[in-house]
Amino acid sequence: MAERQHEIDPAAVEGDFYHVKDLLEGDERKKLDRVRTFLVDRVAPRANELWEAGESPLYLRDEIRDLDITGTYADDHSIAPRSYLLTGLLGMEMSRVDPSFATFFGVHAGLAMGAIRECGSEEQKQRWLPPMVRWEKIGAFGLTEPLVGSGAALGLLTTARRDGDDWVLDGEKKWIGNATFADLVVIWARDVDDDEVKAFVVEKGTPGLTARALEGKIALRGVQNAHIVLDGVRVPEENRLRHAESFRDTARVLKVTRGGVAWSATGCAVGAYEAARAYAVEREQFGRPIAGFQLVQDLLARMLANITACQGMVVRMAALHEQDRLGDAQAALAKMFCTTRMRETVAWAREVLGGNGILLEHDAARFFADAEALYSYEGTRDMNSLIVGRAVTGYSAFV
Ligand code: FAD
Repeated sequence: MAERQHEIDPAAVEGDFYHVKDLLEGDERKKLDRVRTFLVDRVAPRANELWEAGESPLYLRDEIRDLDITGTYADDHSIAPRSYLLTGLLGMEMSRVDPSFATFFGVHAGLAMGAIRECGSEEQKQRWLPPMVRWEKIGAFGLTEPLVGSGAALGLLTTARRDGDDWVLDGEKKWIGNATFADLVVIWARDVDDDEVKAFVVEKGTPGLTARALEGKIALRGVQNAHIVLDGVRVPEENRLRHAESFRDTARVLKVTRGGVAWSATGCAVGAYEAARAYAVEREQFGRPIAGFQLVQDLLARMLANITACQGMVVRMAALHEQDRLGDAQAALAKMFCTTRMRETVAWAREVLGGNGILLEHDAARFFADAEALYSYEGTRDMNSLIVGRAVTGYSAFV
């Protein structure tokens, strides 16, 4: 092998070229490092196997609970308070190792717990959040339908009809992560009386609810997504989330989780870049490592530039969130930008690996495929750019 003439910058190897992790202080940095060790030791070794089998890492729930990162201090005072920066970096690290794991975690801790936190009464939060913090109950979030995806704001087909002290839910939901095994699903449905969107916590085993796993997915295979049928599902009024009164409340939940997807997309790009860099320094052609060719270096530099630009954006987004100044359009811009840069980055990573770029064995293929799901969920690129466009122009261009 040709002699290497220069030292490699460890920060570049790690995909943290501008040292964003150094912004964390003291215990928060230690927590990030501890989670990173868990991801490398416990998640990475089986990520490809679970991806191929289409299985979620349910066997890790006790270990995840012990990491003390599920939920917030307000949900349960056993959880250490955490900055938005640490929350974001944790999501980035999870995706950097395995976007399926990050999504499995995010559907429970972000979407489902977030809906209950944002829209539940104090009594409802106390009822559901502490057992979710402990992973004794796993949550799912059911908004999307087979016939209503991006257009959810304009009207859901799933209906809720008040009947005495109960509500009766009818309809279908598609793509609902974790719902094949979840203990509770937050179902968003249109109240037939006032036409507004409301949210209901439907618990496992409720008659009329069935959840069948979607087959044939080519991205995030380590997440189980369900097609849910609600056939006269009866839920008590006490399971209706008190502060979910219209789609504006759904949007409050999505603002936070969209920001989370921006972090996750950055992590997915970092994982792909790392796989490509590691491969490039080992793989030889024409008698020298491919890392020594200008065209390969150009791809690596462009990947690192994408990642670093995204990191700068999401770090600033976390600071705005900390000051309670994060708006829908700012979260949408980050989701739109970071997923677009991710998609470009994973394609370059896959290219650096040549044929091996489509084999799971070298990891780049998994990031390449998973990026497609991150690009579309929690609002497609188009939807997020329209949210930004509305903020920029004052005109709504959705329809
Ligand atoms: P559509 O809305 O049918 O869009 C198709 C295309 O048309 C897109 O390119 C879109 O951008 C474009 N388009 C639509 N309207 C416009 C317009 N006005 N202007 C310009 N372009 C437009 N949902 C949940 O509720 N819970 C979950 O846990 C969940 N998990 C998911 C996991 C995965 C892996 C995936 C892929 C999806 C998941 N979703 C979940 C659903 C996800 O949020 C939707 O897929 C997404 O919102 C897009 O909806 P759609 O797939 O129906 O696409």
